[in-house]
Amino acid sequence: MKRLVIVSNRVPSPKPRGAPQAGGLAVALAEALAGREALWFGWSGETSDTPGPPAIATAGSTRFATIDLTAAEKRGYYGGFSNGTLWPLLHYRMGLAEFRRDEHETWRAVNDRFAATLAPLLRPDDVIWVHDFHHFPLAAALRAQGCHQRIGFFLHVPFPPAALFDALPQGARLLADLAAFDLLGVQTEADAVNMRDALAGIGASAPVTAFPVGIDSQSFAREAARAASLPEARRLAESLGGRALILGVDRLDYSKGLPQRFRGYAALLKRFPEHRRRVTFLQVAPVSRNEVAQYRALRRELDELAGRINGEHGEIDWIPIRWMTRALPRATLAGFHRLARVGLVTPLRDGMNLVAKEFVAAQDHDDPGVLVLSRFAGAAAELKGAILVNPHDPDEIAEGLDAALRMGVEERRTRAALDRAMLATNSAADWAKGYLAALEATGESMRGAA
Ligand code: ADP
Repeated sequence: MKRLVIVSNRVPSPKPRGAPQAGGLAVALAEALAGREALWFGWSGETSDTPGPPAIATAGSTRFATIDLTAAEKRGYYGGFSNGTLWPLLHYRMGLAEFRRDEHETWRAVNDRFAATLAPLLRPDDVIWVHDFHHFPLAAALRAQGCHQRIGFFLHVPFPPAALFDALPQGARLLADLAAFDLLGVQTEADAVNMRDALAGIGASAPVTAFPVGIDSQSFAREAARAASLPEARRLAESLGGRALILGVDRLDYSKGLPQRFRGYAALLKRFPEHRRRVTFLQVAPVSRNEVAQYRALRRELDELAGRINGEHGEIDWIPIRWMTRALPRATLAGFHRLARVGLVTPLRDGMNLVAKEFVAAQDHDDPGVLVLSRFAGAAAELKGAILVNPHDPDEIAEGLDAALRMGVEERRTRAALDRAMLATNSAADWAKGYLAALEATGESMRGAA
């Protein structure tokens, strides 16, 4: 079997096989990597004044090679063009995107340095799989280094309609970059349509296929069942005093629709007063990208909203919203999902949203909770048992919550079984294997024929 080379912005820290890995990508790829010779290349997450050659570490059959960035590179490539321009634009939020030429140039130069550092580590018959929007130009940059290997790309976030992507001053150039890959993978059919359309707009074409990311639902289910009896979950259960738990779990990010979600919960308490005192909404949202001003502003907005809703609706013995910006261990969250009567997942736009799938996987088959899910999460295309809502409309969120809270056990079981069956057809490993099989089956690279 050919060696697999993974490139991603961040590289998981090498751990002995079998040790739990934090990031979703690491978990998804672990099985695809197991037993196969692999090289994983990316940014170390560190900065240094004079970045040297890559640091190499080995775990099992995988080698990890990471490079540092300079502080200026980190600003332009990571905080700037990746998170300040592409992230909002790809999530349909043009108004939040900043367009700075110097940041685009730094982003491109970092990708060139990635390519120049990676090229000498490659073997002629490697298969290269590049992940996410930080690395649109990487295939083109590797080709410029004389690399003829097969190179695939997977976009974990959404791809917006061409008219929106066109707003990016360097949009046509980025599309030409994408066309240098042998296979473009996206999360949903809608993303594939948008990307094909954008490529056609510049007269380019490359195969674009949807490969929805899956989760290892059985192991998450086992973890949730175990965690439900751990002290944290017991404390939470006792503190509820028999009230129904509505649970939100997200990174603190403006794509997650948190202010609208809080307003939706407030609308539930106002319009459906029979639920007052009978529910508790716990939102866990660890701070992320706190160096970006928009993220700090979002946190302030949510602090204020939570305070106001509790002030307005709270009673001496009932606090409507519990709001935490600390991260919790994955196992603890799994246990919380299992306790929840409602999973409230309402991103304004999301590539997939793994939390929605984790909520489904964590439920007790006999007495499952209900997922209230944004129509605009990639997961909505698969999870037909969820109550779908428009996350921009607090009234619709309130109605979805009301329906979920009133739903009888028979219907909950039917819906949960439907979604559980869906998850079972597409594990994380299935996803990685499916993508790699398609990549290896793409026509012989023209560039490689020479
Ligand atoms: P994104 O990649 O935009 O953060 P996803 O929902 O697709 O969103 O993936 C998030 C991953 O991070 C999930 O596996 C989830 O369990 C984990 N996660 C999300 N919120 C938290 C949290 N509050 N604490 C710990 N892990 C979290």
